[in-house]
Amino acid sequence: MRILLVEDDEALGQGIALSFEGQGFDFCSCSRLAEARNALQQGAFDLILLDLGLPDGSGLALCRELRARGDATPVLFLTANDAEYSEVTALEAGGDDYITKPFSLAVLRARVTSLLRRSRPAPAALELPPFLFDFDAMVFARDGVPLELSKTEQRLLRLLAEH
Ligand code: CA
Repeated sequence: MRILLVEDDEALGQGIALSFEGQGFDFCSCSRLAEARNALQQGAFDLILLDLGLPDGSGLALCRELRARGDATPVLFLTANDAEYSEVTALEAGGDDYITKPFSLAVLRARVTSLLRRSRPAPAALELPPFLFDFDAMVFARDGVPLELSKTEQRLLRLLAEH
């Protein structure tokens, strides 16, 4: 998982990157919008942690740019206080979530995990011999024989397949 972290508070940035260490995340840290734009040109990210108040502008501007060019990378805003920001502003700019400073790193990790889970496409089909579950076609079979599943059973299966 590649995460782009755009935060000009160095101590906070390091704390965030450290708190994700050893969990399979690859952090790219930037402290300015210009650096973040460069990083985005060089490769795709699975998620962007984006501070609002940056030395060369607002994180909202970067998020708008991404969405304007059809980039749907999940964006989680890091905001200094409620006053500079509202959930409406975030949604308007195309953000997916936000967290207000000071925040607990554990809460941030939980938000990141949940955003990544939401943004991952659900599996189209699941094979667990002798069972086959095709969620696109809504076909469920055992040894090639179709099974009748209720809507609830289908939903449960899908949940299990996704996790
Ligand atoms: Ca800042």
